[in-house]
Amino acid sequence: MTVSDEKVCKVPGCSKEVYNAKSFFCGEHKRSVKENGKKALQTAVTVVAAVGVVAVKIKKSLKK
Ligand SMILES: [Zn+2]
Repeated sequence: MTVSDEKVCKVPGCSKEVYNAKSFFCGEHKRSVKENGKKALQTAVTVVAAVGVVAVKIKKSLKK
């Protein structure tokens, strides 16, 4: 895989350049990401919580 130094949008299939090096998305997707941000954040929190529960279970099962 070739990863260039150019900063391009992180959205799969989108290869537009981002505004600045700190941005992960192009202007177009930045907007949609912002709009979906709350939803995505909730999903992320749910996933993290679920992973946490699983991790605790695994830890417990590993302890003897
Ligand atoms: Zn994009």
